[in-house]
Amino acid sequence: MRYISTRGGITPVSFSDAVMMGLADDGGLLLPEKIPTVDMDKVRSWHNLPFQYLAVDILSLFIDDLPRQVLEDLVERSYSSFRHPQVTPITHQGEVYILELFHGPTLAFKDVALQFLGNLFEILLDQRSTYMNILGATSGDTGSAAIHGARGKDRINIFILHPDGRVSPIQKLQMTTVTDPNVFNIAIRGTFDDGQAIVKEVFNDLGFKEKHHLGAINSINWARVLAQVVYYVYSWLKLRSRGFDTVDFSVPTGNFGDIFAGYIAKRLLPEGLINRLVLATNTNDILARFVGKGDYSKGQVSATFSPSMDIQVASNFERYLYYLRNEDPAQVVKDMDTFSATGGLDLSSLHDFIAKDFVSRSVSEEETLETIRDFHDRHDYLMDPHTAVGVHAAQSFVDPERPMICLATAHPAKFGEAVKKAIGREPELPPALAGLEDKESRCDTLDADTEQIKAYMREHVLS
Ligand SMILES: *Cc1c(COP(=O)(O)O)cnc(C)c1O
Repeated sequence: MRYISTRGGITPVSFSDAVMMGLADDGGLLLPEKIPTVDMDKVRSWHNLPFQYLAVDILSLFIDDLPRQVLEDLVERSYSSFRHPQVTPITHQGEVYILELFHGPTLAFKDVALQFLGNLFEILLDQRSTYMNILGATSGDTGSAAIHGARGKDRINIFILHPDGRVSPIQKLQMTTVTDPNVFNIAIRGTFDDGQAIVKEVFNDLGFKEKHHLGAINSINWARVLAQVVYYVYSWLKLRSRGFDTVDFSVPTGNFGDIFAGYIAKRLLPEGLINRLVLATNTNDILARFVGKGDYSKGQVSATFSPSMDIQVASNFERYLYYLRNEDPAQVVKDMDTFSATGGLDLSSLHDFIAKDFVSRSVSEEETLETIRDFHDRHDYLMDPHTAVGVHAAQSFVDPERPMICLATAHPAKFGEAVKKAIGREPELPPALAGLEDKESRCDTLDADTEQIKAYMREHVLS
């Protein structure tokens, strides 16, 4: 299996090279040359497999340059940090099924991919006898999941910038109480956008980037998408064993990473087994407008109860665009140029193609809280605001004949303030979050200044 760029400007590379490359060298995103497919016999052989076994089987359809034994160890290690024996269990609540993706070390779905990516980096760096300095900016969730994926790894140092005073106290503690010597938390005196701009500037200094072997962990890495394909198939198999042949999924969406993994799962499985993907956004609705009307145009970002989805430009969108454009890289380049120049793309003529796989709904703040309250009152089930966005959107599309699986992307205790607004009290802290205040913590505070960050890194990089 070789990997190509959505922009057509690289010679195809192996899986390992695709992971190390992150962003393709021509500025595009990496995709498998051909999406593998499986037949019903294969699907039947997956019946009742534990998560880890299924994961190895699915991953090996996309990875042919790591021995199976290595893949088995990698998967075993990556998911041993999850607190639930099924890794991503599913529960039936009212008219929907809820796929809980938050049983990892930082209680958010990003752990599924970043535990895997951290261990994968370690193996690839080992094979190549080299090292990596990871640099990223976070508004909260990604940073802690990345830190927990990289902590304690010999060949990796990780530097994560977060905006000082602008992440929740719990999110801050989840990062700063990881005191392994290879972890560097930097609070910057500025906003999340400042942090992202600094990271971009540092990566654009190609001399600095090469000298210090900089690596990125943002959601454009193919390995992150791939790791997420597994739970779509796993949860579909669970419902199949309860007698259902076809399912819908509802996915609270920000950067189009998670739902794109659902699209890959849909194409991997025999036709029709995954019926539709519900793309759910908060009031930052660029992707809902895209699915609904083919209108992909930027608006202003507004802050919501579901901050991990407060985005206007979806970094994984280009991957889907490649398929939407019939795998024509020249057209993708043209589209991306138009988008950078004008902030918008009119894809309304392709609406029928989009509608074969997706429906969408944008969910208001009030609807988000109402949904949390409603499931708490009616079913004694507590969900976080991101999950609530997906569940609310799902309710418009439930077909009584077919299960609707809603992805639960964070534990409610991570977003206690919003939950309190909905039900009048904060959720109980699970053991992973209780007592964080009493732990030792480490963090340095710096100005939102690229030169200061670089100077700090020069002092602390692996070399
Ligand atoms: C990152 C995140 C999302 C959005 O996922 P994308 O892959 O960016 O679409 C949703 N919910 C939570 C809790 C997240 O952390």
